[in-house]
Amino acid sequence: MKVAFVGGGCGTCTSSFYLDKLMAEKNIDTDITIFESSSNMGGRLQQVKVTDDVIVDLGGSIYHTGVNPTVVKVREDYMEKMKNNANTNKIVETINIYDDVESLGVWDGKQFVYRGPTKLYFVSIIQKILIDTFKDFLYLGTILSFFNKKLHQLMIIISMVFTYGFGSILGIKKFKDKEGGDNVIKLFLDFNNVDYYTAFGKYMPVHLVHINAKNILSKYGVSDKFINEVLEPVTRNIYSQNLDRYHSMAMLTTVLSGDSSKLRTFKKGNGAFFEEVAKSIEKCTIKRNTKVTFIEKVHDGKYQVTSKGPSGQSSTQVFDVVVLGAPFEKLNVEIKNVPDAHQLLSKIPKRDFVPVCLAVVSGVPNHKYFKCENVGSVPLVIRTTKVADVNNCPFLTFQALWFDVKNNCRIYKVQSKERLTREELDSLFSEKHFVYQHDFEYGYPLLEALEEGHRLPAKLSENLYYINSVESLSSAMEASAWSGRNIANLIADDSTIQKQSSQ
Ligand SMILES: Cc1cc2nc3c(=O)[nH]c(=O)nc-3n(C[C@H](O)[C@H](O)[C@H](O)COP(=O)(O)OP(=O)(O)OC[C@H]3O[C@@H](n4cnc5c(N)ncnc54)[C@H](O)[C@@H]3O)c2cc1C
Repeated sequence: MKVAFVGGGCGTCTSSFYLDKLMAEKNIDTDITIFESSSNMGGRLQQVKVTDDVIVDLGGSIYHTGVNPTVVKVREDYMEKMKNNANTNKIVETINIYDDVESLGVWDGKQFVYRGPTKLYFVSIIQKILIDTFKDFLYLGTILSFFNKKLHQLMIIISMVFTYGFGSILGIKKFKDKEGGDNVIKLFLDFNNVDYYTAFGKYMPVHLVHINAKNILSKYGVSDKFINEVLEPVTRNIYSQNLDRYHSMAMLTTVLSGDSSKLRTFKKGNGAFFEEVAKSIEKCTIKRNTKVTFIEKVHDGKYQVTSKGPSGQSSTQVFDVVVLGAPFEKLNVEIKNVPDAHQLLSKIPKRDFVPVCLAVVSGVPNHKYFKCENVGSVPLVIRTTKVADVNNCPFLTFQALWFDVKNNCRIYKVQSKERLTREELDSLFSEKHFVYQHDFEYGYPLLEALEEGHRLPAKLSENLYYINSVESLSSAMEASAWSGRNIANLIADDSTIQKQSSQ
């Protein structure tokens, strides 16, 4: 069986990995081709090496070990498959991105409207002294460091309660519990669904995608101040968009990723991990710089795929199955002779995408810009409110990551809607040792409330599948990996494929 995957992101890497595994179990010989239009695999997972041992993810950066079971499973299954390979441990090593991030600020472009928990910092200083004193006693050091992290989480909650009152925090918890937040894990553990609207509806109140998030939060007693100063800065951070057009399903998945101790990133880069997952497939050809332009159904239900290679030459190949692995609005592929696919595609809402620009800077933030007394009092994570746009704030999020030992400063990631200019970078940083900028032309779909009647098909026609219809509901590594794995199951279970392959 010959299978074409269009796009080299985490969705197709996961899908091809599981398809290969399932077909091997059925003794069906499978040849996989992944077409990637750019020179890099990974799609919206890209990375940059800042120092010898620090790699920073530019796009999809973190997954949550609690609510992202598919990513966790891909890692486990890859480890199992590659257990005899000397490099495997390096590839699967993960770290907590928020490990030593201790302070948060919400910036409106002129001032911090929320700061926490630096005011309760004396407690953590005592903790640190204790850890330093006892660090030779490994156990005691680990226990104290564990309590230190828990204490910081507690301090954030206490300072939030002081600032915003109990009602809103309780309202968020009720929203999560009553609307079936826990079921998201069951959803991600369930596969074999041809329509994602139905799949989500099996476990979660799917009507949430038709309701604006603000309406539902107000119903649960969450105050406008909490929405504007806590929740919207988070949606501006993780989806680069304001909450006012956000649907409630996206809100539910946003609040589920709250526990920062469960956030992980692959140390060598998330894109690098998924690329290795695809490379572990025995019969897999990866065609970089090769853009698929045309897919036509030909004889025996097969598909002829036309692509343009690195030197501009066109070529065609025939495949039994084709899997589309990028948002259809961005694929730029013409599909011919597949009327049912066209009909289904017309039922997917046409989505607008927001671009996301990243600057990775190893340097020292300009404390005067943030109206702070000194560099030490600049919060390590700075999110912005919508008012920041009105105040011409050039960034959405300003976040300290790891330490650059050589230059004795921190490494920052600054996210914005437009690429930061040199002047803007100069005003944000008083010292810069390393600067790298990357723009994602299409970052996320606008997660707007959908009208009734839309379908979100994983299967467009016989042997033609589409990973990214799921992005109207959730746009994350987990969603694409889950959809990719689901499609591998659907292909493997398809009786026509098995019949064709046995002939
Ligand atoms: C700045 C940013 C931060 C993010 N942070 C997180 C995060 O912290 N956690 C998280 O879970 N998710 C995050 N995401 C979302 C996550 O990165 C994406 O949801 C996920 O990577 C999508 O993967 P994919 O494989 O479905 O698609 P993509 O990654 O978009 O891959 C599609 C690939 O297809 C290729 N392609 C397109 N058209 C063609 C064609 N015609 N022929 C051949 N190839 C083609 C593209 O070049 C691309 O490489 C973030 C996204 C961005 C932009």
